[in-house]
Amino acid sequence: MSKNFELPERVNFEITSKCNQSCIHCFASSEHEEKDMSTKDVRDFIDQLKGTSVKYLSFSGGEPLIRSDIFDLIDHVKKRELYIGLSTNGTLIDENTAVKIAESGVDSVAVSIHGFNESTHDTIVRKKGAYLKAIEGIKNLLAENVPTRVLTTVMRQNYTEISDIRKGLEKHGINVNKILHFSAMPLRPAGRANVNWNELVLSPDELWHLWEERWGSIGKDIFGDCPLPIPIIETLDVFLKEKPYDLTSEKLKKICEGCVAGRIFCEITSSGDVLLCPFVRLPIGNIGKNTLENIWKTSYLIKKVQNREFTGKCGNCQNADICGGCRAEAFVRNGDILSSDPTCKFVPHMY
Ligand code: SF4
Ligand code: SF4
Repeated sequence: MSKNFELPERVNFEITSKCNQSCIHCFASSEHEEKDMSTKDVRDFIDQLKGTSVKYLSFSGGEPLIRSDIFDLIDHVKKRELYIGLSTNGTLIDENTAVKIAESGVDSVAVSIHGFNESTHDTIVRKKGAYLKAIEGIKNLLAENVPTRVLTTVMRQNYTEISDIRKGLEKHGINVNKILHFSAMPLRPAGRANVNWNELVLSPDELWHLWEERWGSIGKDIFGDCPLPIPIIETLDVFLKEKPYDLTSEKLKKICEGCVAGRIFCEITSSGDVLLCPFVRLPIGNIGKNTLENIWKTSYLIKKVQNREFTGKCGNCQNADICGGCRAEAFVRNGDILSSDPTCKFVPHMY
């Protein structure tokens, strides 16, 4: 089905490449030395979004709270009447910063927690004491009633702990009922995750068991005994808060839009490159040289992904509308964004 998307609805902006951690799976391979875009350039970009179809802007990094102008930038977003989210490792959120975040009017903050055990999290982010600092950050945010989410990337180092992450937070005195949502996302092959892939990746069977544990047999009447494709896993984890054991395939079809890369979502890197999603690290333009609108509307790749014009299995699949395959997997493994998702085990009727 041909779709006509204007600009994306959601934009994530990696406003800095600097980070006080060095996670083994960082998709942006964030380090400490690259030059970020200036305050003026980020503000000019925010100005471009007013009145467009972009409704949600989130700031990530690197670690966005490292930027000394972060609250100025958030204020600028609020003045342009956009929803603003923050993705952080939580370690810099002391009581004062939590008050500033609350006062800034940030609509939601996502904090990464990568394990139940302190040592698991600290090993993944390669910083001793990071787990306890992040816990403190979450406590401070909740004390100021800041809408807070918890994000986890699933990998070999932590997959046995995913279902206990809430318990870990409770053990440290956090009222988990105040947390908006816990998301667990599969690892994708980008940045350091791709470099360290063999040590981090789970086998399809391990992943499958994990998602079954999380959601029961959801999607089985669509995907049979095949592991759920990544875009379906992502949709479920973002939109479903509880185990949806009674979700029929018809309901699944209504909530699943599949891969959002280049459709309703785009990523801007700290140097201004425009990407289809954080994990497809192939620039289609740069906001320092062109407007997002021009880049978006003239990109050959955007047109193709919006219309699900893929080759191979994904191009001949009856589930393309609700799935579409992971473009990051296609790009990294096949060298072609528009090719088939090589991780998918499903065999389409038309293939
Ligand atoms: S073939 Fe592609 S579109 Fe079909 S289910 Fe697999 S990943 Fe999704
Ligand atoms: S390419 Fe699509 S499915 Fe893959 S990580 Fe990006 S948004 Fe998710």
